[in-house]
Amino acid sequence: MEKDQIIIIGGGLQGLATANALLDRGEKVLVLEKNSETATAASFANAGMLTPSQSTPWNSPADILNILSGIGRKDSPMSLSLKAMPSYFLWGLKFIANSTPSKFEKISKDIFALAKYSKDLTVTIRTSEKFSYDESTNGTMKLFRDATRLQNAIILSDRIYGKSNEIEVLNQKEVIELEPALNKVRKGIVGGIHYKEDETGDAYKFCKALEGLVRSKGGRILVNTDIKRILLNKRKVNSVVTDRAVLEAKRVVVCAGCLSTTLVKQLGIKIPVKPVKGYSLTYNTAGIQNTPKLSIIDESIHIAITPFFNRIRVAGTAEFVGLNDAMHPKRIDYLNSKLNEVYPNLYSKIKDDEESELWFGFRPMSADGLPFIGESKIKGLYINTGHGHLGWTLAMGSAELLADQLVGRETQINNKPYQANR
Ligand SMILES: Cc1cc2nc3c(=O)[nH]c(=O)nc-3n(C[C@H](O)[C@H](O)[C@H](O)COP(=O)(O)OP(=O)(O)OC[C@H]3O[C@@H](n4cnc5c(N)ncnc54)[C@H](O)[C@@H]3O)c2cc1C
Repeated sequence: MEKDQIIIIGGGLQGLATANALLDRGEKVLVLEKNSETATAASFANAGMLTPSQSTPWNSPADILNILSGIGRKDSPMSLSLKAMPSYFLWGLKFIANSTPSKFEKISKDIFALAKYSKDLTVTIRTSEKFSYDESTNGTMKLFRDATRLQNAIILSDRIYGKSNEIEVLNQKEVIELEPALNKVRKGIVGGIHYKEDETGDAYKFCKALEGLVRSKGGRILVNTDIKRILLNKRKVNSVVTDRAVLEAKRVVVCAGCLSTTLVKQLGIKIPVKPVKGYSLTYNTAGIQNTPKLSIIDESIHIAITPFFNRIRVAGTAEFVGLNDAMHPKRIDYLNSKLNEVYPNLYSKIKDDEESELWFGFRPMSADGLPFIGESKIKGLYINTGHGHLGWTLAMGSAELLADQLVGRETQINNKPYQANR
């Protein structure tokens, strides 16, 4: 056991990025992961988008209406289970309280500042370390089937991001020129927005590259290690109890995604973070001609479709169902039907692919839409979680913010909006 090492709980995007940032500051780190492999929870098969352009939280008035209209339903993009409702009650009140126009705008700007910082860091590490994760720098495109909604999205983008996020508004013809695979469904499309600075890639492959880097810098990663408790001595972190041993540590960073709340609650710390379940389906497209090249967000049906090398992934749905790990067939039907709506030609060729991969994960969603990054009110207890639907987009920047605070350095962007003890 290394003296003075920092224990990081969780080997997902936040845990691995945090380990890397701390190693860069000369710290020793030990990542503890309860699963048999890193990046197998929420960071495994997400939509693969690095999208500062989508920095709005999910508590806009329109989203709240969508959630409420999906109560008890399994065939709508957003849904709230009646059984899980009580567990979301207090969190839900805060979620709604943060949806006023002024708060929505301020929070969106704060998310954007971190997302932009983070994306630049992702580009830097990819270039300097020669990471390869099926990345694409072509941007993302949002499709619109309603002219008013397109106009509103342009106004929102101008108001929140201004010139700091380069967009191109496209008419129907230009949408098809940019993504010819949409030609068959062109009639339903009124236009689109090309977010040129967004990127895409496979988050799991990114995690694996990061894991290799962490190990090469001397960081240690132990899998199959479940943290049961964090122990204190005189209100300071003293050790962690795993299912195998007690490990001494004066500094612990909780990056346990949706399970972070349980670990810190034992110490009297409540952070309003709840699981929001989402699904993805990944199909093999090897050997198929004219497959899509650009990542698409279909605004009206709340899904994202991202092509990777020889694969395509459709992801979406937001279910407020607690940590319910049942795979509901209606969710799978929903994703398939939406993929078919957007790319009918392609879908007819891949629908019988027996090796398609179905996945679900739980987004750690905070009540105000902002992550919790930094030291808690307990000395030595740090938190880096609550990144919701943007956990990859925000990972590298969040890790830098956490690491700078932990070693007492000035942060590169204002860290106040994301403070862990807010
Ligand atoms: C359908 C879907 C699509 C998404 N699309 C995107 C996207 O396109 N772009 C984007 O930016 N974000 C996206 N996200 C969000 C993003 O994937 C998550 O925010 C991110 O993966 C969260 O990372 P994390 O490290 O906080 O959590 P996780 O990846 O869940 O990692 C936490 C880790 O902690 C471990 N752990 C928990 N408790 C313990 C314990 N007691 N002891 C030891 N280990 C423990 C878990 O096993 C897990 O490995 C999407 C999410 C979903 C569900």
